[in-house]
Amino acid sequence: MAFDTPRGKNLNAIAPALLAWYDKNARDLPWRVGPKARKAGARPDPYAVWLSEIMLQQTTVATVAPRYDEFLKRWPDVKAMAAAPLDEITGQWAGLGYYARARNLHKCAQAVAVEHGGVFPDTEEALRALPGIGAYTAAAIAAIAFDRPAPVVDGNIERVVARLFAIETPIPKAKPEIKERTGSIWPKKRSGDFAQGLMDLGAMVCKPKAPLCDMCPLAGFCAAFARGDATAYPKRAAKKPKPQRRGAAFALVNAKGEMLFERRPEKGLLGGMLGLPGTAWTEEAPADGLKQAPANANWKKTGEAQHTFTHFHLTLEIYAARAPRGFRRGAGQQWLAPEEAQLPTVMKKAVKAACD
Ligand code: SF4
Repeated sequence: MAFDTPRGKNLNAIAPALLAWYDKNARDLPWRVGPKARKAGARPDPYAVWLSEIMLQQTTVATVAPRYDEFLKRWPDVKAMAAAPLDEITGQWAGLGYYARARNLHKCAQAVAVEHGGVFPDTEEALRALPGIGAYTAAAIAAIAFDRPAPVVDGNIERVVARLFAIETPIPKAKPEIKERTGSIWPKKRSGDFAQGLMDLGAMVCKPKAPLCDMCPLAGFCAAFARGDATAYPKRAAKKPKPQRRGAAFALVNAKGEMLFERRPEKGLLGGMLGLPGTAWTEEAPADGLKQAPANANWKKTGEAQHTFTHFHLTLEIYAARAPRGFRRGAGQQWLAPEEAQLPTVMKKAVKAACD
């Protein structure tokens, strides 16, 4: 498909302009081999690139950076991660959200260790066949770790390209067009640097609310800038309001001050993570919530915990009680000091509401 050149300039001139800017302005990130080191012959470790890309899905660089170092110290290579118990990985993941990623991390490490002898495959297609690696992540690893000319479109790149070409179609419908336009400016060489350069430009210059067009190496190419209307892009379809769900969670405390926790089913939201026993989360508050409590005890409502997931808002009513004499925990339940339990954020809020 042929595209209009943004502002009438040669598409092939975009990559050199961006790469020259990246050479001077690259962010120093723990998982990154910077442009100077690359020029000196250093190559990124595909395991480190993979780990960072999975951690960065739906999570910010600022949140991921310290957690990435912890992961790398604990499991310095893919074989070490493959050999770790799943519990340890999901525990270490606590607070990073989207817990299916932690389970896929483990599955993928095992697939690389067993099926590929501990060496990550170097093509988009073979990477895509691994658990938890979708189209975006396969392209990112192929470009960054192996310098394959694989156009990568993350949130930052999507914004830069939508502005560069002043794409009028709203997101998400515009995604195929953005991908194609991104491909039209992608260089055959220095693919990894180009991907990271566009990501950095989006994070540091072509910011969502206040783009710094005066400092942008691509301003001379940019159609949105030429229109004086950079923040109008990307166009977005009107958002549907998120539905509200409700449920109840029960904090049962024993004589030692420990709380009763149970592991959630492997599949589904927060799969495999620890949490307080509770009801299902539904649009209507469960009328018989207390009937689902883990013990017949003197339950008192202590407050509510609010949390927002990608697809819904959740309000949990929190009840607390002392464990009655003779209470026996069920299979899959355990007593833990609340501060020692590795909990997802929503459950931390629930425990706090039970203790306040
Ligand atoms: Fe973004 Fe402005 Fe650069 Fe265009 S000129 S790419 S809108 S920062």
